Amino acid sequence: MTQNTKLTFKLNSGASIPAVGLGTWQGKPNEVKDAVKYALQHGYRHIDTALNYGTEKEVGQGIRESGVPRDQIWVTTKLDNTWHRRVMEGFEKSLSDLDIDYLDLYLVHFPCSTDPNDASKHLPDWDYIKTWQEMQKLLDTGKVKNIGVSNFQISHLEKLLNDPSCKVVPAVNQIELHPANPSPKLLDFCKSKGIHCTAYSCLGGTIGSAINNSGPLMEEATLIKIAKAHKKSPQQVALMWGLQRGTSIIPKSVTPKRIDSNFDLDGWSLTEAEMKEIDAIKLRFKVVQDGWMPIKVFLGDDE
Ligand code: NAP
Repeated sequence: MTQNTKLTFKLNSGASIPAVGLGTWQGKPNEVKDAVKYALQHGYRHIDTALNYGTEKEVGQGIRESGVPRDQIWVTTKLDNTWHRRVMEGFEKSLSDLDIDYLDLYLVHFPCSTDPNDASKHLPDWDYIKTWQEMQKLLDTGKVKNIGVSNFQISHLEKLLNDPSCKVVPAVNQIELHPANPSPKLLDFCKSKGIHCTAYSCLGGTIGSAINNSGPLMEEATLIKIAKAHKKSPQQVALMWGLQRGTSIIPKSVTPKRIDSNFDLDGWSLTEAEMKEIDAIKLRFKVVQDGWMPIKVFLGDDE
């Protein structure tokens, strides 16, 4: 019987990342602490946050209140765009807000360095190659176990990996992955370079969620059909599809019932034929856009 909730994926650093985590983006004040505490007390061992989400303090509180020992929990956070020229400071701020001694994984949130005094400006003298040089230095502090990137496309990764200053291959690329944004080329590229992918917005995100918390993806006929066949929900099928593609998944919920159901992934699996049917879903949308950043980061090279 598959025990996906205990599954880990081996990273190129030798570390093992728990396959199922809890996302915390867009959690409202006071919701995230309780969600993190509840998730950890009900088996989750991986929490995803970011300086940009403003949830780090509550994630730290939730971890402490859960009573689960720190060394049993995987914590990922991310360097915000306005901190690229101040990597060490951004990192220390995250550690201090989380109020923990070390991070399991620290990611460059986007390949975009933004002027801290003017969010409409890209820093002309600073790109993500320089940011990565600073990220590599963090490993010497002993306060971060793994470093990686997020929202990097194939061309960003090629440029980074080909730069002589790149001594550490990112352990992880955290990217938007769900059946309506499957990005097979980017996933294959990362695999070929030994970079593990974590799937964000793996439920299709919050699009449409104001109405019934189920966006267009959860109304997709193939997902509904396969869900019925397994007596599971379309959300669970989308999560299982992510796991069976070899990606870790970080569904976000602040609702105890959903936190539980997103973790109900043991003892069942999708057949190869069902995986192919989901791969063939035609619906396409992206949850995260780049219009709010001073440069384009989604380059369309991941179809
Ligand atoms: P998501 O996990 O795909 O979807 C979250 C939404 O689905 C919430 O509105 C949640 O509502 C609802 N939901 C959760 N479980 C459900 C269920 N079983 N049934 C029905 N509705 C359900 O979206 P996401 O937050 O965009 O992505 C997940 C995580 O990935 C984020 O929280 C963040 O940690 C990370 N992320 C990273 C990046 C990046 O740039 N690296 C970008 C986006 C996201 P409730 O919370 O109200 O239950």
